[in-house]
Amino acid sequence: MRLDKYLSDMGLASRSDIKKEIRKGLVRVNGEIIRDSSFSVPLHASVSYREEEVCYEEFSYYMMNKPIGVLSSTEDRKQKTVLDLITEKHRKDLFPVGRLDKDSEGLILIMNDGQLAHTLLSPKNHIEKRYYIEIPVLLEDSDIAPLRFGIQYDKDLIAEPAKVRILSAEKEKTAIEIIITEGKFHQIKKMFLALSENYVVTKLKRLSMGKVVLDENLAPGDYRRLSAEEIEALQ
Ligand code: URA
Repeated sequence: MRLDKYLSDMGLASRSDIKKEIRKGLVRVNGEIIRDSSFSVPLHASVSYREEEVCYEEFSYYMMNKPIGVLSSTEDRKQKTVLDLITEKHRKDLFPVGRLDKDSEGLILIMNDGQLAHTLLSPKNHIEKRYYIEIPVLLEDSDIAPLRFGIQYDKDLIAEPAKVRILSAEKEKTAIEIIITEGKFHQIKKMFLALSENYVVTKLKRLSMGKVVLDENLAPGDYRRLSAEEIEALQ
């Protein structure tokens, strides 16, 4: 791979700025200053930029605890997105896998592996997504039981059977765990509204996606790289 692409892929600067930096002699390959942007980086070479080692990776994988109020998109002209929260130098082709509403929180995977993202999102693969939700109404199991059989919601959409269980129920708040394998727009909110217009989801937090579980140590807005085991578990 060309030296300028190698460095710009890793998000160090734009391709044109990187070319200037290379010309200035700020990049070394295996200890030697290289001033030619088209230099072909040998496999397993040690590359440094401004005397700091650069680790090239073809694929990067992160989990984030998405905070409420942030968009789960790659960029937005006005509002903050999950990618704006990644402060370390990173690959410029990262994207969030699937969406969480602006007022939802919890696990969002961020990667640049299009094939894996497709596998995780394709309804054919029935990848389970587990959520904690709250509804400000006292509910019993029989109220939510229809969700286990698949219900019609949003005019002509049919939800696949979901796994649901009540975690706690008080007069003005029922906490529920729901597991679905799809991810249509506002799906969970609409599924509950299809049961009753009073079942308004006021809190929605994604806890897991496939075998990857939200790290409890991540405060809202924090992120970390996935471990090798987590990446393996997603395949
Ligand atoms: N279902 C919803 O309604 N909202 C989300 O953010 C995720 C699932």
